[in-house]
Amino acid sequence: MSAQVIDGKAFAAEVRGQVAEHVARLKADHSITPGLAVVLVGEDPASQVYVRSKGKQTIEAGMNSYEHKLDADTSEADLLAVVDKLNKDPAVHGILVQLPLPKHLNEDLIINSIDPAKDVDGFHISNVGLLGTGQKSMVPCTPLGCLMMLRDHHGSLSGMDAVVIGRSNIVGKPMAQLLLGDSCTVTIAHSRTKDLADVVRRADIVVAAVGRPEMVPGDWIKPGATVIDVGINRIDAPEKGEGKSRLVGDCHYDSCAEVAGAITPVPGGVGPMTIACLLANTVTACCRANGVDEPEGLTA
Ligand code: NAP
Repeated sequence: MSAQVIDGKAFAAEVRGQVAEHVARLKADHSITPGLAVVLVGEDPASQVYVRSKGKQTIEAGMNSYEHKLDADTSEADLLAVVDKLNKDPAVHGILVQLPLPKHLNEDLIINSIDPAKDVDGFHISNVGLLGTGQKSMVPCTPLGCLMMLRDHHGSLSGMDAVVIGRSNIVGKPMAQLLLGDSCTVTIAHSRTKDLADVVRRADIVVAAVGRPEMVPGDWIKPGATVIDVGINRIDAPEKGEGKSRLVGDCHYDSCAEVAGAITPVPGGVGPMTIACLLANTVTACCRANGVDEPEGLTA
């Protein structure tokens, strides 16, 4: 294996440390405590784990955490009323509605009801538009975490050839916008892309956000390229015992690591950066709301 391993777990701990420092300063200098409200509708087990983890890390960073757990059959009107209340609450600087929502709720409608200034997930149509036009916005957490790791590793990304595999609104599209913003030449690949292997082979930076276990093999990777693996896929692991499973990314780690210059592991790469960036976005939103200088290096 020749690639340098980009340690997302350690980097996320650094980001959380910076967030905690800014929170302490906001408290000491301005008597402001940033607050993050998370709304969970229903009992999806994975969402419950995420929400718990977000709440714990919010408190550890010195911020206020507000959790709103609503029944799975909550009506759209009732959920909109909760969001409206949070929009108006000056103690709440960030609002996150945990996705996916139960099928009877219109996700776009709910997300677009969040005050864009408090939209710490960066999914509101205003923030999508601001990011797309290169204006100050709230930036989606997972691609922001990828960008931070890339900047940290490379310094400038200017002129690099980047291929993003996946075009979701949550990861692929904002990732491509961020790379374009840093002056990469960007290709977005998806399920209809022809000759994907050839497309990926020309990239200096590969960001895989597909959701297909180990889809990208090492022989698609240009020697020395940087591989950011966003995928989180659970697969059977009979070698660990009957009924056991393990997490893998969208890239075949061992073969990619032989060729790449740097690579993020799964787990321990992009995953931990996502919540760290959520905390960073909450501090950024709090500073903007209060006219305080926002921290450097914690947004795009
Ligand atoms: P998604 O909404 O399902 O989008 C997947 C994308 O991959 C789509 O654009 C799809 O293309 C494309 N795709 C599917 N099969 C393909 C193929 N054979 N070749 C090329 N492209 C293909 O997924 P997502 O929400 O972006 O998430 C992607 C992965 O990242 C998942 O494993 C998810 O668990 C993980 N994730 C991780 C984090 C984190 O914190 N680390 C956060 C979010 C997501 P079409 O558009 O043509 O269908």
